[in-house]
Amino acid sequence: MKIGFIGTGVMGNAICLNLLKAGYKLWVYNRTKSKTDNLVAEGATWCANPKAVTDATDVIFTMVGFPRDVEQIYFGADGILTTDVKGKIIVDMTTSKPKLAEKIYAAGEEKGAQVLDAPVSGGDLGAKNGTLTVMVGGDKAAFTTLKPVFEAISSMVQYFGPAGAGQNTKMANQIMIAGTMTGMTEMLVYAQKAGLDLPAVVKTVGGGSAANWSLSNYAPRVLKGDYTPGFFSKHFLKDLRIALDTAQEMDVELPATEKAKELYEILVDEKDLGDLGTQGLIKLWWE
Ligand code: NAP
Repeated sequence: MKIGFIGTGVMGNAICLNLLKAGYKLWVYNRTKSKTDNLVAEGATWCANPKAVTDATDVIFTMVGFPRDVEQIYFGADGILTTDVKGKIIVDMTTSKPKLAEKIYAAGEEKGAQVLDAPVSGGDLGAKNGTLTVMVGGDKAAFTTLKPVFEAISSMVQYFGPAGAGQNTKMANQIMIAGTMTGMTEMLVYAQKAGLDLPAVVKTVGGGSAANWSLSNYAPRVLKGDYTPGFFSKHFLKDLRIALDTAQEMDVELPATEKAKELYEILVDEKDLGDLGTQGLIKLWWE
């Protein structure tokens, strides 16, 4: 199986390394070419654009930043769907809009390709360690074909239904994370004001019913003053906006998620700190 991978940032690069380690042959493209150098050194082949990746491979994975980036690599000049994709499998792993997943599915199907949306959870460490959770929508037969590939990069992979179902599951995931990130942040702000020993608080509450992934992975980074991503705040704000827009289309109100979005808007749009990891939210209290 010849695998193409477009978008080799924090997540894509680590996923590609695990695919190479598992013995898959890779053809790669990223807007900033230097982010593929380590992969080429490990045996991957550089391609000049998404079309060239598609022409060289049978299965094309994409993992870029925002829905607008997804639009560009699929439908833009030298995009994936500008070439012959008959018989190929196309998988978007970007966290993106359910509606855009449906659009790609329809366009791919019309040209004889099988299409999946397969966003992930598990963070930069999950990508590095091959322990991601993958949430899949789209063509069930393609999912079955690619299960061994997903298993090479994850510890859990689940098919949820037609195109967009993977993205909707990821939105459900991000709605949960909105609560754990704001909870962790306000917990630390409160504990510090109360004069408590913060490492001891993190360890203790993490051993009880308040235990959660954000607490165990991001609170230690906050205590070290490490605000590097991880998971970019600008990407989390993008996710919260997609989740809330989609909820509105379904006529559902999510006031706590709305509040989390407002807080991340202050961090990203007003304070221009979108390149910090999501743990940077605490900078709204701690300068
Ligand atoms: P990232 O480091 O910014 O990676 C995105 C990569 O896509 C960048 O290298 C970027 O190139 C490339 N790219 C963007 N537009 C492109 C285009 N038009 N053509 C070619 N390459 C393009 O972000 P990330 O942390 O890996 O996240 C990727 C996606 O996964 C996001 O949707 C994010 O929400 C999601 N996600 C992230 C995490 C996490 O913990 N980091 C976890 C789960 C899901 P440049 O280098 O030129 O910018």
